[in-house]
Amino acid sequence: MTAQEFARLCVPASSKLREALLALNVSGRGVLLALHPDGRLRRTVTDGDLRRAILANINENACLDSLPELTPLTVSESASAAQVLALMDQHQIDHVPVLSAALHPVDIVSRRELTQRIWLSSPHLGIEETAFVEDAFKSNWIAPLGPHVDGFERELAEHVGSGHAAAVSSGTAAIHLGLLLLGVQAGDTVFCSSLTFVASCNPVLYCGATPVFIDAEPATWNMSPAALERALAWAAQHQRLPRCVIVVNLYGQSADMDALLPICQRYGVPVLEDAAESLGASYQGRASGTFGQVGVFSFNGNKIITTSGGGMLVSQDPALMQRARKLSTQAREPAAHYEHTQLGFNYRMSNVLAGIGRGQLRVLKQRVEQRRRVHQIYRAALADLPQVQWMPEPEGYHSTRWLSCLTLAGPNAALKCELVMRSLERHSIEARPVWKPMHLQPLYKEAAYFPHEIGGDVSAGLFHAGICLPSGSNLTDAQLQRVVDYLRRALVLAEDERALA
Ligand SMILES: *Cc1c(COP(=O)(O)O)cnc(C)c1O
Repeated sequence: MTAQEFARLCVPASSKLREALLALNVSGRGVLLALHPDGRLRRTVTDGDLRRAILANINENACLDSLPELTPLTVSESASAAQVLALMDQHQIDHVPVLSAALHPVDIVSRRELTQRIWLSSPHLGIEETAFVEDAFKSNWIAPLGPHVDGFERELAEHVGSGHAAAVSSGTAAIHLGLLLLGVQAGDTVFCSSLTFVASCNPVLYCGATPVFIDAEPATWNMSPAALERALAWAAQHQRLPRCVIVVNLYGQSADMDALLPICQRYGVPVLEDAAESLGASYQGRASGTFGQVGVFSFNGNKIITTSGGGMLVSQDPALMQRARKLSTQAREPAAHYEHTQLGFNYRMSNVLAGIGRGQLRVLKQRVEQRRRVHQIYRAALADLPQVQWMPEPEGYHSTRWLSCLTLAGPNAALKCELVMRSLERHSIEARPVWKPMHLQPLYKEAAYFPHEIGGDVSAGLFHAGICLPSGSNLTDAQLQRVVDYLRRALVLAEDERALA
């Protein structure tokens, strides 16, 4: 609902019944908010209220004031969608007005939208997945090996041009194996982007190693070359060079590899590229995920394509991927009695899920286009709001816009973001803050951190001022319009100084 549509629902309690009927007719919402002269809510007025008034012979030229007194059922701005729905169920009503601290109606929630939740990023299946899964069933290849696992590896490696790939049970498992392949051992140091999901760095702890976090740069939201340079110089000076650097590609966009890779090369430190969020993106014409010694993708349910859960390692080195497959299947030596000389894991992808992956890979290009279109719709719809800034996509980068992310300008950005997200949530629209940086997480509070500029903190700034919007490739135009309308209204309301008081 736009601000104008909401304004049309609000009528003075001194309106005549006939005027109210006309307003109801125009709004098409089945409910009006009758206001006292001071702007407080007197009562809600439904179709049924007006029908009953006319049947009771109240003249259509009488005022809404002549309707019986009724304490309206309302919620405050902090109410959640679940609380609103509970109130609706308890009183068998379909609309609940939202009141500000000054008891003025600022919003109205309808039952229909609460039952049609809009997700941040939901799975979007194509038409070929079921055929692959059926084939797995018919051929009885249900195990964590089989033709679809091999096929998925081959097709994904071809798609990104990585040479070789190893399919595993999750992106997290892929990062764990990737670290082991690069030789990470207990007591080592590993550098990692701070602005990321926790799965980027938890495997560092699985290895008994110590993470050091590197800030983001404003131009890409990804690892800051300046911070990396300073961190490596410090590490070299203290003879604590990291065993590897985990470079994360955030929200569908590559990091600045032309700046980052030469720095790592100069210190002889390999790169593990966490491309869990950037499958389908490219940087200077080359596929994201193919810049590190090892690259990692995820097929979790919220990613751009999904196998419900799964991950992939990629590399130009066939021996490395062969070792990944071995480590992911309990590190069995080729002997009938299962000989073991190394610690292995049960990380292999199943043939059924690989079948889903093969079907999904066929629609990846479309999914990228669809997510980029979602982003363009948001941008165009909010182009006139100067407080809104979008995650940049510099020249030479092709982002998938896996998530469409904005930041708000100004000193109260964090508070404004909270108000905006709360208001979207009330209408059952899932929006989230930008990732909370790892150096701010209690789990990693002991870890060293290198900011983009000394005394600054870019990733903390993005976390406090950023919002991720619903970005799924399966969002309908009607759903996008719903997000845009509520988002615009929430953004405008949040700019109002009184909302921040
Ligand atoms: C999703 C994600 C992962 C982990 O992938 P899973 O398949 O969920 O284990 C790792 N890193 C980043 C940046 C992610 O977004």
